[in-house]
Amino acid sequence: MAGDENNGKPIARRALKILFLGTAAAEGIPSPFCECSTCTHARKARGRNVRMRTATLVNDDLLFDCGPDLIAATQRFDVRLSRLETLLVTHAHSDHLLPSNLIWRGPGFCPTPITPLRIFGPGPVARALRRDPHWPTLAEKGAVSLETVRAGQRWRSGRYQITALPANHDGKRAALLYIVSDGTHKLFYPLTAVYHTRQISPFRYAPSGKVSATG
Ligand SMILES: [Zn+2]
Ligand SMILES: [Zn+2]
Repeated sequence: MAGDENNGKPIARRALKILFLGTAAAEGIPSPFCECSTCTHARKARGRNVRMRTATLVNDDLLFDCGPDLIAATQRFDVRLSRLETLLVTHAHSDHLLPSNLIWRGPGFCPTPITPLRIFGPGPVARALRRDPHWPTLAEKGAVSLETVRAGQRWRSGRYQITALPANHDGKRAALLYIVSDGTHKLFYPLTAVYHTRQISPFRYAPSGKVSATG
């Protein structure tokens, strides 16, 4: 396409669109109980200095994590999740996974059609979802499927190829990091924890294309 070239190299017509809905740890920034310089500065400066608990939206159909600030973050950034097809949960800590978030997309709360949602996460995430009191309703009416994944596993969901990596967080095999590829671009999402650098390099799993770090 004319104009889609840069020094003779084609420019990808559509990059991954990444929106950080939240980048804080479990207590948020500012933490309501804290008077440290970071929290004090965030209270004064506002804007991007106020950081919600972690979640990241890729394009409009893939979400990393689903914690307690999800609804507020979508309102803050004026985004909707009606086209969400894939949810990748890194681990089951409460700042990354609030199962009741998913109830609000189902009957009784959302009158418009919803896209079936595939949820992927390590074993503790699947167990946390299944034992949540909302899960029977969600599984019956929420158009969700839940799949347990392990480090090193690759699979497709929607338009993405996904690779799970081990993370050094919350005990052995309890947390995962992910690489997401749309066939042209790759996104490495290490926001939640540190991967096992001595054991596994993300580049081993993404030998071609561009690997982008998010934080
Ligand atoms: Zn603080
Ligand atoms: Zn955690």
